[in-house]
Amino acid sequence: MSNFIFAITLFFIFSLSEIHSQSLLTPFEKNNKTTTTYEECISFYKNLEKTSKLVKVIEAGPSDVGYPIHTIVLSSHNDFTAEKSRKSGKTILLINNGIHPGEPEGIDASMLYAREMVTDGNKSKLLDQITIVIIPIYNVGGSLNRNSFSRVNQNGPSEYGFRGNAQNLDLNRDFIKCDSKNAETFTHIFQNWDPDVFVDTHCTDGADYPYLMTLITSQRHKLQKQLGDFVYSHFVPAFYDKMKSEGLEAFPYINSDGDPSTGISDLMDSPRFSSGYAALFHCIPFISESHMLKPYDARVNAQKILLRSLALVCVDYKKQIFEIRKTAKENYRKQTDVTINWKIQKQTTDSILFHGYEVEKMTSEVTGLERIKYNRNKPYEKKIPFFDYGKPDLKIQRPDVYIVPAAYQQVIERLKWNGVQMQMLSKDSMIKAEYYRIIDYKSPAKPYENHFLHSQIELETIKTKRKFFKGDYLIKTDQPSMRYIIETLEPQAPDSYFAWNFFDAMLQRKEYFSNYLFEDIATELLQNNYTLREDFEKRKRDDPAFAKDPDAMLNFIYSRSKFSEPGYMIYPVARWREE
Ligand SMILES: [Zn+2]
Repeated sequence: MSNFIFAITLFFIFSLSEIHSQSLLTPFEKNNKTTTTYEECISFYKNLEKTSKLVKVIEAGPSDVGYPIHTIVLSSHNDFTAEKSRKSGKTILLINNGIHPGEPEGIDASMLYAREMVTDGNKSKLLDQITIVIIPIYNVGGSLNRNSFSRVNQNGPSEYGFRGNAQNLDLNRDFIKCDSKNAETFTHIFQNWDPDVFVDTHCTDGADYPYLMTLITSQRHKLQKQLGDFVYSHFVPAFYDKMKSEGLEAFPYINSDGDPSTGISDLMDSPRFSSGYAALFHCIPFISESHMLKPYDARVNAQKILLRSLALVCVDYKKQIFEIRKTAKENYRKQTDVTINWKIQKQTTDSILFHGYEVEKMTSEVTGLERIKYNRNKPYEKKIPFFDYGKPDLKIQRPDVYIVPAAYQQVIERLKWNGVQMQMLSKDSMIKAEYYRIIDYKSPAKPYENHFLHSQIELETIKTKRKFFKGDYLIKTDQPSMRYIIETLEPQAPDSYFAWNFFDAMLQRKEYFSNYLFEDIATELLQNNYTLREDFEKRKRDDPAFAKDPDAMLNFIYSRSKFSEPGYMIYPVARWREE
């Protein structure tokens, strides 16, 4: 045996024995069917930390249950902070696992990947160029709530966590409203690291097809233009190629109405979702979705290949990523008209070569109605429509400054967590600015994720003076968090704080009138105000129900009188623009 071979053999034996002796085997590897528990997962990473200088386990903050959320940082030269990593010129990749703990393959895959990265000398070299931050299990409460049945359509593992967290929230709708401690902790992690690239690992529901892995890339047209062009023209094709070279043929996420051959559609990942949230900060976001009907070990392996490929592409494109993110941040801030909502167009289609199973229709034995089945014996390969154009649907003129009353503490708190720079008013002031009057909005009859999310919000802009107080907040839009500020403070943005009920109290009157007393005042008002009288008569002619409803008619007059409270239906955040 030559010295070289001896050294290699020794290294190999040492590595393996190290893996065994230090409990570096993951629960998954014991039978390829088991997913780790929270306790096993954290103790695995702590053992890994003991064996390697390339790992740091950090308690990042609380979750809604009594156990913390961790981050596992993989980097060389002690670059375990964002500052050190940036200083060393490293790309920063953030991996989030177990947001839906019933879809745990990313949790197990990350453990295997982290071990591979720090025990395989060849692979460890990559950590000179990239810092990998892993959230091992994000939904800690859901992960502790293990069962074997809540993923009825999924092929294993034998036991797994539950989708809802300790408050029964779907954390993948919580990134803006932050009802959970988990989301608050995530915000701190994300803002601290400002990752260049982000991936959130999941397992699908829905259609059957041969692909083991599908990928959601944050919607192209929603990304800042140069960033979207770079991601879709360079980064994503390289990512698919890298996975293919590692033996994994991935495909864009199959969002269809049951039969993918009629077309698949991009997801519009608004900021309540992890990828949409990351996009607010010009990060490059992905969601990996392994296929629920494939065996568990294959899914874990696919997620591991995906993570490995992603890290390699992050390093290959390191320089371009830095440049393009810088450009995206700068160019976004130059916009005066800013899009706040997009819609996927069904008129404009691309096409994409797809491998699928024929969909057969038959009569259901249960309902007696039509049902579908995917026939795995009839695979096909053909081009299918791909609806991937997200058309700007709503633009606003960006103000120079928003003014938010300090009374809205929950909003202020979230703005601060997200790194928004703000200045306090030093004295009480009457401020002439633009304000929105809420004309109409829809809210669901049943709650959605702890809220009654408003939609179809109609506004009119009024210019008036309102009083603000010492301690209220001035927020300039020209700052790095501009996109987050606009998409949370513009009421019509789909995930604005208005939509998520943070300003609901202004939608209700606090003072009112007695009909029998107001009758006489109303008579006088109509006599003395020609326009009011005309509007009132017109409304009665146009709306027969109104003309039979005394309350509605008196209210019509009251709401147009000086007696009506000035703040009713006025969104309390001012928009100030330099004239
Ligand atoms: Zn999921």
